[in-house]
Order: sequence, then C-alpha cells, then structure tokens
Amino acid sequence: MTEVAVEELAEPYLRGVLATAGLDVEYVRGEGDTLYYRRGDEEVPVLDLVGGYGSTMFGHSHPELVAYARELLAAGTPIHAQFSRHPYANDVAAGLNRIIRRETGSDESYFAIFANSGAEAIEAAMKHAELERYARVEGLRAEIAAHAEAARAAAADGVVDAGEVDAAVAEATAHNEALFAATPLFLAPVGSFHGKLAGSTQLTYNPVYRAVFSALAAQARFVPVDEPGAIDDVVRSESRWLHDVVADGGRVTVVRRPFPRFCAVVLEPILGEGGIHEMPEAFVQDVQRLAGELDIPVVVDEIQTGMGRTGAFLASSHLGLRGDYYALAKSLGGGIAKAAVMLVKASRYQSSFEMMHSSTFAKDSFSCLIAGKVLDLLEAGDGEVYRAAEERGTELLDALRGLRTEFPEVLTDVRGRGLMIGLEFAEQGEAGSGILRELHGSGFFGYYLAGFLLREHGIRTFPTSSAVHTLRFEPSALISSADIARLTEALRDLCREIRDTDGGRLAPV
Ligand code: PMP
Repeated sequence: MTEVAVEELAEPYLRGVLATAGLDVEYVRGEGDTLYYRRGDEEVPVLDLVGGYGSTMFGHSHPELVAYARELLAAGTPIHAQFSRHPYANDVAAGLNRIIRRETGSDESYFAIFANSGAEAIEAAMKHAELERYARVEGLRAEIAAHAEAARAAAADGVVDAGEVDAAVAEATAHNEALFAATPLFLAPVGSFHGKLAGSTQLTYNPVYRAVFSALAAQARFVPVDEPGAIDDVVRSESRWLHDVVADGGRVTVVRRPFPRFCAVVLEPILGEGGIHEMPEAFVQDVQRLAGELDIPVVVDEIQTGMGRTGAFLASSHLGLRGDYYALAKSLGGGIAKAAVMLVKASRYQSSFEMMHSSTFAKDSFSCLIAGKVLDLLEAGDGEVYRAAEERGTELLDALRGLRTEFPEVLTDVRGRGLMIGLEFAEQGEAGSGILRELHGSGFFGYYLAGFLLREHGIRTFPTSSAVHTLRFEPSALISSADIARLTEALRDLCREIRDTDGGRLAPV
C-alpha cells in the first residue's frame, strides 16, 4: 500500500518555521531533564533546558507525580465535579498561604481563584482588579450624585443660585460620564510578558503579540524600569479628574477628585520572555510607593519565576516586592497537569467575583491534587528543592559567566537567578559573514542557535520569546554537574562557530 502524506492541519506554518531552524523534532518520551526523539529504532536523548517554558521544575515524568496521577485515575477520582465541595482546592490555597506567609512575613490571607493556564490566571487578576476599581468608581459616582442633590436642595432653599447649580451639574455629569465609560489602564514594565489571550496580550509588551489586538481590551502603559520616577511621570500624564459639584457656604464650587483610572500594576519579578531581566530595586520601590499612594493593586506574575525556580518560592521575595495579587501556573502542575491560580489579598477580595468568573476545567480535582503534591515535594526536606535551585543555578551561572569571559565578542551578557538564566548573544547585523548577517536579519537568530545546539549537541534550548538574542536556560532542580559541563562544551563550540567561522553550521542544510 502506498503511504498517503498526512495533511498538516495543526499549525502548519509554525511547523514550517521550526523546520527552517531544524527544530521540528517529535519527542516521544521524557524523563528528568532528558527528552527522547526517535531515529529509526533508537531513542535519541536530548538534554532539555527549555524545561517546558518553566513548567518542569521537577523534570519530565517525575516518578512520584506520575505514580500519584496513576493512583488517582485508577481510583476513579471524579475529576469534573463542579459546584460541589473542593477540599483539594482549599488544601492548595492553604499550602500557598503558609508558604507566602513564611516568605513575605505577611499576616494577611490570600483567597484563591483557580484557572487552567497562566494567561487565564492573569485575566482573572485583571477582572478582579477591575471589579475592585468598579466598586470605587460606583462609590464616587454615588457621592458625587449626592453632592449634586444637596446642591439642588440648597438652590431650592434659595441658598445658592439654581441656574448656576444646574449648569455646573450638567457640565460635571457630561464630563464624569465620559470618564466612567472609558476603559481603564494597566501599568506594566517595558518588556513584560503576561500571556496571549485577548486581555492579557494587552499587558504583553512585544507588539507582534499585541498591536493587532489592541482594540479588543483595556490597554497598558509600559514603563521603563531603569529610569527612577518614570512610573510617576506616566501616572501623572494619564491621571484624570472627576468633577464634583459642591454647594457650601452659599457658593457653588466644582471640586476635582482623582478618578481611579488605573486598574492594577502587573509585573514579573524577573522578565522571562522579555529576556530574563530582574526588576531593579529602585523600580520595585517606585511601584510599591506609588501603588500605595494611589491604592492601585500590585499583581505579581510569578507564573514563570515562582514555584521555587529562583531559590525561593516567590522570586519577588528576593526583591522585597509584595503582591496584592499573585499569579502562579507552569510548575504548579508538576509538568503533568494544567494548573494555575490567582491569589488575592483578603482585604481586597470581592467575594461576588466567585459568581462572575469560572471555567469548566478550573479547580478540578486532578490538577489540584497534583498541585498539592507538587507543593509537598517543594517543601520537603526543609527546603531542599529551593536550595538545589539556588546551588544548581549558581553553578550554571558561573559556567556561563566563564564562557562570557572567554568569548566577549560573541556573548554580551549572562543574567538571571537560580534556574532562570539568560545568555545574551551579540547582534550580528554587521558581521563579516554573510550567513551570520542573514540569520540575524531573519529575526529568528536565537532559533538558529537553538537548532545548532540540538543538531550538533543534543541540547534543547530556545530564545526568550520577545528577545531572540537571549537563550534561556530553565532546567529542573535535578540538573547535574555533568549536564552543566556538557552544555558549557556545546556553547563553547557554538561561540567558536560564530567567532572563528562564517557560521555555516548554524544554517541547517
Ligand atoms: N506570564 C508569564 C510571566 C509567562 O512567562 C507566561 C508564559 N510564558 C504567561 C504569563 C502565560 O502563561 P500561559 O502560556 O500558561 O498562558
């Protein structure tokens, strides 16, 4: 029988792009930091440093997690039992609260809203922040209406001029209604990545992911993180004022009241897809101060940085950054479940949100029970995994820093913390070699570097999505010294190829 070519229907364009860089490999098995693809009858091992984009802190197919998942399925655990008691979700929420209290010293509880993906957790946070803002706006609307009523009453009593009151109230109402109807703004750092759904993509800096969809939802103003006071300037220029008509002491005055235009500040402690950049201390302080002054909630996106990756459960805890909200996903599911959660400080929590927001799949027993097990693994042995992340990360960072010293013309920076590390390669737009200039010009430079490492060294890494000259290294906490040595050797070969040759081995044949 002749074989019929299978039509490519699941994102064929993307597959084509991956093929150009030699990255269209099918992995058939994963174990720890190793993925295997098939070549003929053999399985070829690949050292995986992409780590599921941050979702495999415990490696692929962690034996305890897999055994537990099997047990749950074998026992017929009901996975979709919506609108019933969910003690397993409560256990996860309680576990998260215990850890957050320990790390941040917070004595306030956080309520949990579960989700299925990182972007969804961010969107839940955006909606909840808008619900908070809405409550404030409605409060102001009522106060201003009451003042207008009082002014009219004063006019009826002849204390103030009725015509003046009517005119002022008409002007203020028109002005205020326009503000009430306007979409709010979010504040986020330049370089942020918070997801690609209709709302969260507005908080994602890269215009490739955002620009086309900007008409779909509320916008962010992106703030440079390395200019102290920049966030104040943005807020100042975007601030708006409500008009409040007040009759007092026989006079009608229009008082300006600050309009709550900003829904939330949303930020990653370390920009992930933006190229692995930790938030500078001064920026964190600016955010914290300004948010406090204006009562804007701070949403800390720990989707990639969290779950112990940086040597603490929350990367924000290293920076003294405190969230009114936290978003977690990726490794929360232990590399086998799709789990995400959004946490909101009790003092800000709007319980009506629970009636407004839900998903068929969120808060299901399977993902919650796996997440609970993941938290147990993380917390076991008095923080063994956190220490491993820090130690392994330091070893990897040191190795990469050594390479940077060896190849200063090829490598421009090494950044990161724990198991979230970026290695930045120099621009090649002006390279002597035509091949390097062409690969640079393709806009996929980092993907060609990744293709080289995969083909020639059996190592899997990718650039960060919005900074394609930075390769990411996000292995599991199990990464061995031998693996680090292997990576270093492979990168040395890559650097030599770029520095000493025309880069021909970077372009797949
Ligand atoms: N926030 C951050 C910081 C992320 O890194 C990502 C994914 N890379 C997301 C949000 C979106 O998560 P998801 O892909 O699960 O929607």
